[in-house]
Amino acid sequence: MTKSFIIAIDGPAGSGKSTSAKLVAQKLGYLYIDTGAMYRAITLLAIEKNVLNNADDVIELAKTSKIDLKYSEGITQVLINERDVTEDIRSKEVNKFVSPISKIKGVREALVKKQRILALNNDGIVMEGRDIGTVVFPDADVKIFLTAAISERAERRVKEYDAKGISVSLEEIKSNLENRDKIDSSRETSPLIKAADAYEVDTSKVTVEQQVEIILERVRQATAKRE
Ligand code: C5P
Repeated sequence: MTKSFIIAIDGPAGSGKSTSAKLVAQKLGYLYIDTGAMYRAITLLAIEKNVLNNADDVIELAKTSKIDLKYSEGITQVLINERDVTEDIRSKEVNKFVSPISKIKGVREALVKKQRILALNNDGIVMEGRDIGTVVFPDADVKIFLTAAISERAERRVKEYDAKGISVSLEEIKSNLENRDKIDSSRETSPLIKAADAYEVDTSKVTVEQQVEIILERVRQATAKRE
């Protein structure tokens, strides 16, 4: 079996990971995987089952739940135990609790295991998250770390909510992003950090097309190295 070609895209919330990861996957015909959706799905279940404060119960949910990500036409449909939670995992409540839940070591271990399995049987994958280039696939063929100023990231999120007809304040979004970044970057298990060999792109300084082209260029270089 040939090894999958893996593109890891990490960075804080709103840095443009989903936008560029989806486009790169589409151009290359690779599988696109949004690992944040997996952490969100487990958080949603923990809220519903009222076990947010019981780490062992949350770990059990992460180990035993079936998570399916079905990507088609720009949208990742997220299913947990065969239930469609695509919309529910983007709620304000999930935004609030997802980072504390993602800190739990056993939750991460269970989800990382599932993420590695997803990469099997695929020629190529584009996986986005916080720890893809550092922990999930430290040997990824291409590693990208996206950043952007907090004001820019918050404005992008507000626009996304607006497009869905959901009213949110810029301040509310900004404070959620800052809070999540702080927890994600300071946690003990696989914190959000740039891998030493990742290529950093500040997406406030380039267009989406340029972002995609920068990643595709890294892919070309890595492919040439492999051959
Ligand atoms: O990517 P998104 O913003 O939807 O991720 C939601 C949360 O899931 C992050 O704030 C982080 O706490 C967690 N996450 C993580 N590791 C990943 C992906 C997401 O801890 N690989």
